[in-house]
Amino acid sequence: MVIKRFIAGAVCQHCGGHDKTRAWEDDSEKLMRRECIACGYQEVIALEAPETSELVTRVNYADPVFDEDVRSVRILDDSDPNGP
Ligand SMILES: [Zn+2]
Repeated sequence: MVIKRFIAGAVCQHCGGHDKTRAWEDDSEKLMRRECIACGYQEVIALEAPETSELVTRVNYADPVFDEDVRSVRILDDSDPNGP
């Protein structure tokens, strides 16, 4: 099912009409489509944009910090004579 939603405050690049643009996702083609109901102008946006991979890199960069925390906890466990 395709749901077409109007984008609040959006301005059509073609005719400049306010709140005339509606958008929907085309799952089969992995695309976001926008359409102006005033002039019929259509715009296609790729859902898998290169910006997404930049975000993933930032998340991965934080991982080594967590890894060091885990290591220091392990050292405490090994030096505990009352441990199992
Ligand atoms: Zn338009």
